[in-house]
Amino acid sequence: QSKNTGKNKYTVFDQRMADTFSQKVKIENQLRDALKKDGFTLHYQPVIDTERGKTAYVEALLRLKDNWISPALFIPIAEESDLIISIGKWVIEKVVKDIESWKTKGINTKVAINISPKQLSDPKFLPFIEKVLKESSISPKTLEFEITENILLENREENIELLNKIRELGVSISLDDFGTGYSSLNYLTYVPLDKIKLDKSIKDRFIQLDKITIIDSIVNIAHGLELKVVAEGIETEEEYKRFKKANCDYLQGYYFSKPVDKDTLENFFL
Ligand code: C2E
Ligand code: MG
Ligand code: MG
Ligand code: MG
Repeated sequence: QSKNTGKNKYTVFDQRMADTFSQKVKIENQLRDALKKDGFTLHYQPVIDTERGKTAYVEALLRLKDNWISPALFIPIAEESDLIISIGKWVIEKVVKDIESWKTKGINTKVAINISPKQLSDPKFLPFIEKVLKESSISPKTLEFEITENILLENREENIELLNKIRELGVSISLDDFGTGYSSLNYLTYVPLDKIKLDKSIKDRFIQLDKITIIDSIVNIAHGLELKVVAEGIETEEEYKRFKKANCDYLQGYYFSKPVDKDTLENFFL
């Protein structure tokens, strides 16, 4: 196009698109490489029991071992390219291994795993989970899947059925990123969930609007539906106190700890 129009702005636009595209291809290749060459690792971030002020469980967060690209950047690329299926399997198997290794050290912790919509819609997902659980010594109760509301956009009925089956296995379900999408309180009434996680951005938005009391109402509604509430992105003591006052059951954020590697987690938090 730019060749024909000769207009500068189109040329620039095309160049930018090309850059983004080549960056994508580059990252995609790095992900493929990482799968082949043991290039992924997991970091774990403690989730704090508000009442007891101690680690209740941890969230597994994927990292590339030797170059620091944010998952916020590479996960969408993994999703587009379907690599997320293989990567997601690696994550689940690695978490199970880590829970097993903790068990031998007398550490019993639950781990929350982020699951992409693409993984859930893979017909092999449930059989895979069943197989992994059968072949390991861990209790299904030590696993939680963090899903997003995107899974309700397509094949809602099937997905709800799948979530029910997962919960029947004993694995709990948490709705991640609450407050970033449609965030309809309506679906909280029919989606089988154990928890919701209030996204960091909702806190930032309501603080900015001086409407933080909305959080109290959301927590109340969730509790009325027998859902636990996690507040994400707690960075200051002030936020900690405010979300404790709002009756959030769990708190997570840099104020308590950044995501850390397995050894650091064992030494400091478990
Ligand atoms: P998420 O599941 O909502 O995870 C929370 C993100 O917020 C993490 O970013 C975490 O490091 C960050 N965070 C935690 N506390 C704070 C805080 O106090 N302040 C700020 N500013 N950030 C905080 P991370 O590790 O970069 O992951 C980003 C997203 O990538 C995750 O968001 C999740 O959606 C996705 N992701 C990460 N690992 C996986 C995975 O194994 N599988 C899938 N499908 N997605 C993953
Ligand atoms: Mg999450
Ligand atoms: Mg989240
Ligand atoms: Mg988030």
